[in-house]
Amino acid sequence: MNQVIATPSDPTGSVAKVNLLDFDRQGLRDFFTQIGEKPYRAEQVMKWIYHDLEDDFENMTDVGKALRAKLTEVCYIGAPKTLLDKAATDGTHKWLLGMDSGNAIETVYIPEPTRGTLCVSSQIGCALNCSFCSTGAQGFNRNLSTAEIIGQVWVAAKYLGNITHQNRRITNVVMMGMGEPLANFENVVRAMRLMRDDLGFGLAAKRVTLSTAGMVPLIDQLSDAIDVSLAVSLHAANDELRTELVPINKRYPIAELLAACQRWVARKPRTSITFEYTLMKGINDRPEHARQLIKLMRKLPTCKVNLIPFNPFPGTRYERSDSNDIRDFQTQLLNAGVLTMLRRTRGDDIDAACGQLAGQVTDRTRRSADLRKRHDEEALHAI
Ligand code: SAH
Repeated sequence: MNQVIATPSDPTGSVAKVNLLDFDRQGLRDFFTQIGEKPYRAEQVMKWIYHDLEDDFENMTDVGKALRAKLTEVCYIGAPKTLLDKAATDGTHKWLLGMDSGNAIETVYIPEPTRGTLCVSSQIGCALNCSFCSTGAQGFNRNLSTAEIIGQVWVAAKYLGNITHQNRRITNVVMMGMGEPLANFENVVRAMRLMRDDLGFGLAAKRVTLSTAGMVPLIDQLSDAIDVSLAVSLHAANDELRTELVPINKRYPIAELLAACQRWVARKPRTSITFEYTLMKGINDRPEHARQLIKLMRKLPTCKVNLIPFNPFPGTRYERSDSNDIRDFQTQLLNAGVLTMLRRTRGDDIDAACGQLAGQVTDRTRRSADLRKRHDEEALHAI
């Protein structure tokens, strides 16, 4: 099903107004104080925004008329515009959300029997250039604002008829869409505070997960800033291969990454870390790779491994591992006592799987031009 949705114009008509989605609870209280209002009013409005998914001050019936008029004057509640909304046959849902200058990002909803997970983007494109990721191949444009990050949850919640604390459709949020969330630290943390806040989406720490390619100093900073769950994109257990797949490994090699993970676990004894490992045929799916991974996981016995079958995209040189090899890899890990899950691929028919989120990125790094060139060269060779 493809449904084009009418795009509402900027509700403010003015750039000077403040978008309330940019504030966490404290920020909202400070803003209300600044405009000469009692801070508790901020909490009243916050509940309207995130529990009732209301974006029109006029409908906030317990807010006085004078304050409603004042708010309309100085601020607005502006979630990103939905450009396209696609549903896959398995119930997975993908929204293309318009940003500025022709850019767009993608947000994906994955329903399962006992939970509904929303996969949220943190940047337009990504600067890390992981060799097997389609977002990386798109290049990087800019960080998303807090409003653009929490706005993805707001848009999806509204679309799904999610009612916070009641008929929850979104039970989990994973920062696993486009971008490296730790590279947009302040905005991502503020948005995650809103996901966790009772007056926001009210999700428990284990239900909000940030995934990182391994920006070591920021992992430590995150553990100080907020209680959320951590996922680490490992993909290889030796430095040579990992640097090829995840180039930031050159700056923060595996030993440093693991030490940061050990510090995280020590500081947050009730949480665990999930290591993501995308299986690519003949690249990192051999028994010796599993052995290396097992050895490494011994250093973090409470953590788990999430195996992801590689999801292909146009122009990639990698292939998905054979299902027998995926099974053998998992069995090898399980037999060694490593808690290992296999992520089922969802949303295949709408390119909504991990690493397939491309959106529309006006690249500022020339990387997409390089990809196009490679594409063209391959096409030439094929002739
Ligand atoms: N930048 C963050 C957030 C991205 S999360 C990070 O690296 O963790 C998306 C997950 O999907 C990451 O583990 C990423 O490495 C993985 N991934 C990327 N491209 C993929 C692909 N084509 N197939 C399967 N997994 C992929």
